Amino acid sequence: RVVSAAPASPNEEAIERALRPKGLDDYVGQAKAREQLEIFIGAARKRREAMDHVLLFGPPGLGKTTLSHIIANELGVNLRQTSGPVLEKPKDLAAILTNLERNDVLFIDEIHRLSPVVEEILYPALEDYQIDIMIGEGPAARSIKLDLQPFTLVGATTRAGMLTNPLRDRFGIVARLEFYTPAELARIVRRSAGLLEVACDEDGAHEIARRSRGTPRIANRLLRRVRDYADVKGDGRIHKPLADKALALLDVDPLGFDLMDRKLLEAVVHRFDGGPVGLDNVAAAIGEEPGTIEDVIEPYLIQQGFLQRTPRGRIATLAAFRHLGVAPPKGGVT
Ligand code: ADP
Repeated sequence: RVVSAAPASPNEEAIERALRPKGLDDYVGQAKAREQLEIFIGAARKRREAMDHVLLFGPPGLGKTTLSHIIANELGVNLRQTSGPVLEKPKDLAAILTNLERNDVLFIDEIHRLSPVVEEILYPALEDYQIDIMIGEGPAARSIKLDLQPFTLVGATTRAGMLTNPLRDRFGIVARLEFYTPAELARIVRRSAGLLEVACDEDGAHEIARRSRGTPRIANRLLRRVRDYADVKGDGRIHKPLADKALALLDVDPLGFDLMDRKLLEAVVHRFDGGPVGLDNVAAAIGEEPGTIEDVIEPYLIQQGFLQRTPRGRIATLAAFRHLGVAPPKGGVT
């Protein structure tokens, strides 16, 4: 992958941390989620209580982890961070829960990947701040109840539909993060350029923003790649013509689609005549996991109107045919 939405290396993660907004005021866009959270955070602070549990969902790189940090910051409490696949056994989660301080925030990324036995001990923790743990083995085994400090769970997932119903029902606040507009991303690019001490003018920022798949993580990543280009081929400053050239070199097309996006569109258009084609067939054709296609690649193509998800399968729209310079089928696209 040339530009994927997942953090690539420890170095990259360190830079991401440095670029992460610390407060709600620095958090660009997502007006609806921000407004909701402002109220709940304010109320929890006033009452000195733990805030209600929050579920954040949306494609990778839209700011879920960032929001969880901001929630803890604004509440003035500690943040404990873990993820679904890391919590293998009930005792892994029990150890974290019993160490939380009053009103702390626990962030569980990829919460849809919790194992059922771990999820089981989460339910009473979320509802009554209690857990049941087993002591001893065999006939002598018994279960004891432990009281926990009140806390707020912030769960993140790429698809809310993958959560079990009992888990989803335990979140008082559910916020869906949306793709960012080019104007919002341009603000993020300008802010990041400032933090990285790179000269980047308005048009340069806009060019990067426009081609970032609606995703702040990608915007920040492209900014750094364009900066490298500017350092080597230019005088270090970023402006539109330079951003243009650098991004073309990175295989980011004028609409911001990357190699995988184009591979998927090309497969649907060329190999399946525009569809409808089932997810598994698309996955096999482009050599990508169905889950990655659903969570990472498709959402943006759908939001931009290049692909449709129908009960019969994926369909390429007229815009997709046009973008690839292919004549649409005679009967028109379904
Ligand atoms: P997710 O957890 O949804 O995958 P992250 O919270 O890790 O995404 O965000 C990825 C990067 O994008 C962060 O390093 C952060 O700098 C940037 N970012 C995300 N959302 C925003 C935002 N609303 N405003 C500014 N920067 C953002």
